[in-house]
Amino acid sequence: MSLDAPRHGCLDTPILRERGQREVFCGLTGIVWLHRKMQDAFFLVVGSRTCAHLLQSAAGVMIFAEPRFGTAILEEKDLAGLADANVELDAVVARLIARRPDIRQLFLVGSCPSEVIKLDLSRAAERLNAAHAPHVRIYSYSGSGIETTFTQGEDACLAAMVPSLPATQEAALLVVGALPDVVEDQALALLDALGVGPVRILPSRRAAEAASVGPNTRYILTQPFLGDTAAALDRRGARRIVAPFPFGEEGTTLWLEAVARAFNVAEARFDAVTAAPRARARKAVAAQAATLAGKSLFFFPDSQLELPLARFLARECGMRPLEVGTPFLHRALMEPELALLPEGPVISEGQDVDLQLDRHAVQSPDLTVCGLGLANPLEAAGHATKWAIELVFTPVHFYEQAGDLAGLFARPLRRRSLLAGGAA
Ligand code: SF4
Repeated sequence: MSLDAPRHGCLDTPILRERGQREVFCGLTGIVWLHRKMQDAFFLVVGSRTCAHLLQSAAGVMIFAEPRFGTAILEEKDLAGLADANVELDAVVARLIARRPDIRQLFLVGSCPSEVIKLDLSRAAERLNAAHAPHVRIYSYSGSGIETTFTQGEDACLAAMVPSLPATQEAALLVVGALPDVVEDQALALLDALGVGPVRILPSRRAAEAASVGPNTRYILTQPFLGDTAAALDRRGARRIVAPFPFGEEGTTLWLEAVARAFNVAEARFDAVTAAPRARARKAVAAQAATLAGKSLFFFPDSQLELPLARFLARECGMRPLEVGTPFLHRALMEPELALLPEGPVISEGQDVDLQLDRHAVQSPDLTVCGLGLANPLEAAGHATKWAIELVFTPVHFYEQAGDLAGLFARPLRRRSLLAGGAA
């Protein structure tokens, strides 16, 4: 006799909450992928030379195109209150807009220095909108390291856009999250084949294609770090479709299934549309899972992708998560993931890096996912690591990327095995 009890995964696992020193990038990093996505936007960081260097080194130097990000450097006289930073900012923005008529959206991005001198960028955006709208729409958000980790920059940016999206009564699907164009196109093709539509995207590639939003909008997130954006959409009356995130074959299928249910897609049509890409994804993951199966895994908190990825690596690749650390655990967004993640790992929120390193040393996992700052010392200590930041710069969502996603985790293990003289 067996008991067929409902499975709760990690829903009831107590969360280890820690506050202390943390090792993560700030929210300015999001500009690197956001400026590529939004083709007529400009991101103006109001910050220091440190902020400018971070952006320049993270985004690389663009040789053939005019860059669509920059830093208005706060000089010592601004920081000392000897100059009116607002007047200077207005002049910088006016020069920029005059020189770049292609810009339709301008984001004033706050930083640690602008926060320290309490420069009110939301009021600056209002003032500048009065001068430059409707040709250029001006928004503000914070990417400061005091307030944000790196993926929160995207959340803050999208949340800042939501209040000014046009209102509509149209019944539509809004897909939320900045995906690489090729991945977004794959998702749109699947939704089209399912007969779901109209489909809008936030953020849109161009300002003129901005989504409208209203009480008949159903929205679904593609990224788990978009809690503030979701709250802003809720305030506009849109309703969220609850689903796991589209990582791996299973995550993608459950994500699409949730949309299909909300839009009354017949089961037979769903099966017909998804059968072939599901099979391709399973096959591609299986090729990598041979390396990953049975290996233990430890996530330091970084991108907020940790829980969905742990679920994918445990359920589709046979890995054993020992600790899944996340900078923030947004319970409402993460419930479907927690329900699927097999019981066992410590789930931690926030970070006290020394305590976490102690736990890591005791457990000595086969693979560690962490930020750049921890990866080098951990590699030097003999651990195989995966840089979490690669996960946001690499196309990893939906069926066609499932094999590549598994491959990102298999590669460091294969490399280590090769270096040790074992079989790849
Ligand atoms: Fe550094 Fe803060 Fe600027 Fe980020 S916003 S680069 S943490 S000074």
